[in-house]
Amino acid sequence: RQEVYRELRKKPSTTRDGVQVDLLMNAGLAVDLPQLAESGAAGIGLFRTELQFMVASTFPRAEAQEKLYRDVLDAARGKPVTFRTIDIGGDKVLPYFKGAIQEENPALGWRAIRLTLDRPGLLRTQIRALLKASGGRELKLMLPMVTELGEIAQAREIIDREVRHLSRFAHHLPTSLKLGAMLEVPSLLFQLDELMKAVDFVSVGSNDLFQFVMAVDRGNTQLANRFDTLSAPFLRVLKQIADAGIRNHTPVTLCGELAGKPISAMALIGLGFRSISMSPASIGPVKAMLTELPLDELTAFFDDNLMAPAQGLPMRALLQAFADDR
Ligand code: PEP
Ligand code: MG
Repeated sequence: RQEVYRELRKKPSTTRDGVQVDLLMNAGLAVDLPQLAESGAAGIGLFRTELQFMVASTFPRAEAQEKLYRDVLDAARGKPVTFRTIDIGGDKVLPYFKGAIQEENPALGWRAIRLTLDRPGLLRTQIRALLKASGGRELKLMLPMVTELGEIAQAREIIDREVRHLSRFAHHLPTSLKLGAMLEVPSLLFQLDELMKAVDFVSVGSNDLFQFVMAVDRGNTQLANRFDTLSAPFLRVLKQIADAGIRNHTPVTLCGELAGKPISAMALIGLGFRSISMSPASIGPVKAMLTELPLDELTAFFDDNLMAPAQGLPMRALLQAFADDR
């Protein structure tokens, strides 16, 4: 198997009928970087910057942040990297963060962009470190847990201020700066066109989006197998997102666990996703599926079944039958 995956690295990342799909990897620490070459990933679709904060015993200094981001970009050798601003709070607690509060529902609480907009010093330091590390290169930044478009505007103001500050001091700036939002909160589903226009790209955080759409705690083992990520309602949500991206010419990717299982990656591609990001170990198996996939047939399958699954069967069963037949 490993041998087969290694061979696959040299093959183009396309479906059997020649449609390109970018397979990116998720990462978060310097130790993940060798995986970029080993997995054959097209880039890093999600760099979880909070991991550096979680393994530290105090807030990482600006210099340490900048060094990590520079090391990541150096290791990527021109492949695209998307940095997510710190996604702490919720289940990710920093013991040394004195401002942390006790919350009844941490998943719905003071976390991610909500927290960093309230503590802008944290965000400013991180953004400055990212801008400096990206001097002369492209910087792709994305914001976790966006709920309202105003949060994007607020973050953009902070970014613009840092850019102005650095250029005043004649720092080497990024050649381009792209700002994206993670789509993990259902409120964004009801303003998809506005969202697509407000950002340069969107990345679906399917772990959190599923948790909030189904009202099911992502960490609760009692419920882990109760609801299906490949159920018709959730697939319809994903289709609406992919369609909105296409309609607005806004690149859309997905970086949750869903992207890493061949059957669900197949579904995502059939729904219109042309970029997905997963753990490095999943790239080989997903690419093996991709290169065998007749996308024209899968598109027809979704046209027939997504809104009215054949014989009322679960979509997972229908997708599995589709895969088994081919
Ligand atoms: C997600 O929610 O799907 C995601 C990619 O982010 P995280 O798992 O870090 O919350
Ligand atoms: Mg998330």
